[in-house]
Amino acid sequence: MLNVILCGAPGSGKGTQSEFIVKKYGLNHLSTGDALRAEIKSGSALGKEIDAIISKGNLVPDQKMIDLIEHYLDNLQKDCKGIIFDGFPRTVEQAKALGILLEKRNMKAIMLDMLVEEEEIITRLLNRGKTSGRADDNYETIKQRIKVFHEVTHPVCDYYMLQHNYFAINGNNSMEDTFAQIDTILQLVSK
Ligand code: ADP
Repeated sequence: MLNVILCGAPGSGKGTQSEFIVKKYGLNHLSTGDALRAEIKSGSALGKEIDAIISKGNLVPDQKMIDLIEHYLDNLQKDCKGIIFDGFPRTVEQAKALGILLEKRNMKAIMLDMLVEEEEIITRLLNRGKTSGRADDNYETIKQRIKVFHEVTHPVCDYYMLQHNYFAINGNNSMEDTFAQIDTILQLVSK
């Protein structure tokens, strides 16, 4: 199995690159942001709780996210070629828990870290906000999400770096240029 953790600030292109990876490698795409937004849309009590957190640009508690991932892994189809983890792990606690969940299932994952300049990120998210309908794509919330990314999520990259399981991607240029870098790495590791 080829399991990929896509890390990167909000707006770094994780969703777009996931689509490219799915198309070429046939992996499952697990976007925790999409899963949480689906829960909000369902109108459940849990969804309301999550909505209050996401719309402020903060993170959903670790245990809720870990439970979501465990449930996903328990229900994986037998012929699954691999998983793209888009938006998880976002804290070192989540990274440690994922390590244990994967190890139990004899699975491994590599991290691809999408590096994009902050100015570019803000421009992309404000543009996306015009059409995305996402409550968190406004200037105030974007600033908070970037802050949370630097303070809480960035240490997750160091965690994978220490495990020699880390690849940096320059995500500042075109989508195609970014995917070319990702493709080279995925071809190498899937050999
Ligand atoms: P982006 O990467 O553009 O911020 P996502 O769709 O990945 O967008 O996530 C949107 C929001 O969902 C996050 O700001 C956070 O509130 C919540 N979220 C997503 N994944 C996680 C996670 N692994 N842990 C905690 N909260 C999460």
